Amino acid sequence: MALLVMKFGGTSVATLDRIRRAAKRVGREVANGHEVIVIVSAMAGVTNELVGHVQETSPLFDAREYDAVVSSGENVTAGLMALTLQEMGIPARSWQGWQVPLQTTAAHAAARIERIPTDNLGAKFAEGMKVAVVAGFQGVSPEGRITTLGRGGSDTTAVAFAAAFGAERCDIYTDVDGIYTTDPRITRKARRLDRIAFEEMLELASLGAKVLQTRSVELAMRYGVRLRVLSSFEEGGDEAGTLVCREEDIVESNVVSGVAYSRDEAKMTLMSVADRPGIAASVFGPLAEAGVNVDMIVQNISEEGRTDITFSCPTDQVMRAERALNEAREHEAISFHDLVVDTEVCKVSVVGIGMRSHAGVASRMFRALSDEGINIKVITTSEIKVSVLVDRKYLELAVQALHNAFGLDRAPDAAQG
Ligand code: ASP
Ligand code: MG
Repeated sequence: MALLVMKFGGTSVATLDRIRRAAKRVGREVANGHEVIVIVSAMAGVTNELVGHVQETSPLFDAREYDAVVSSGENVTAGLMALTLQEMGIPARSWQGWQVPLQTTAAHAAARIERIPTDNLGAKFAEGMKVAVVAGFQGVSPEGRITTLGRGGSDTTAVAFAAAFGAERCDIYTDVDGIYTTDPRITRKARRLDRIAFEEMLELASLGAKVLQTRSVELAMRYGVRLRVLSSFEEGGDEAGTLVCREEDIVESNVVSGVAYSRDEAKMTLMSVADRPGIAASVFGPLAEAGVNVDMIVQNISEEGRTDITFSCPTDQVMRAERALNEAREHEAISFHDLVVDTEVCKVSVVGIGMRSHAGVASRMFRALSDEGINIKVITTSEIKVSVLVDRKYLELAVQALHNAFGLDRAPDAAQG
């Protein structure tokens, strides 16, 4: 019998009425002959409230107790969902993480899943249970303490169950109806994608992060779990939503699949650094130790033994980066003339697996930006992505221009350039 994993996010279980609507969808899959593992989030807003209670009680909280508190929202929805299904005459029961047991590392509040034994749930399915409702986001550490997987972790729970049980598909029900070519708030021309490759989804995390926890996409890619993102508010047919899948399962695609952006970036340039072996290590070592997430890096040709090094990082890490670099200079670990900081930039990227086989993506991108009079400050590329730093005031314009330039408002076959 085919097994499906269906995950319902906080807005999809926000009220008893919505839980009933979600349960009806589960009921339809059971009627179609499926066994179902349902993963639930806490009711919308509940986790935030619990986090607030913890912080108010104990600002420097013990992470083990934080997990004990914040994991509880999911317990409520798991029980309510099981009750709702039972009321519909469907054999269902709830499972908390430790009952499965979903085994994780001991990294509280950011635990990683280590193993999901299938025997406990499997035995109940064999006895006739049709639906196992599992509390998302939570697990149990080797010490037997309750852990959580980080905010948005129920997505990862869902994918991990789909992998462990070899599910036919993992459906993620949320409040948006899929993954878009770009942020629909920036351009109304943004279009829902029918399919997107795992790798593209990871690169588009800045768009999709709120839809899918990045870790869940990594897991799905590693285990080849077919992930579908769809809205629980629409009565769509089976084709609705976006399928996140292997590249080979995508027949038609644009060279570029989406335009992503990150608004709060800073550009830092170390002017006139002594150019000798080991210099990059002595610059980026202290930054790494200070916990600065360096993204783009550019080193220029050196003249007379000195060079400029430019890098980008999130704006809220600029002070930390400055401190680390100035300290390294004081200790004579590095020498530079000046540190120039520009906190008014943003990053805009075009992403697509089609780039591997198509030349000219970068030049088309640069042309589109220059036609709008947008100056490019830093460029980086990877196999399936080209990113630029531009002034933040051009963010919307840049995204719109690139969305047009790559024909993303049109369906794939029509738009091939
Ligand atoms: N309830 C948790 C959160 O809000 C986990 C989740 O919903 O995925 O982060
Ligand atoms: Mg979520």
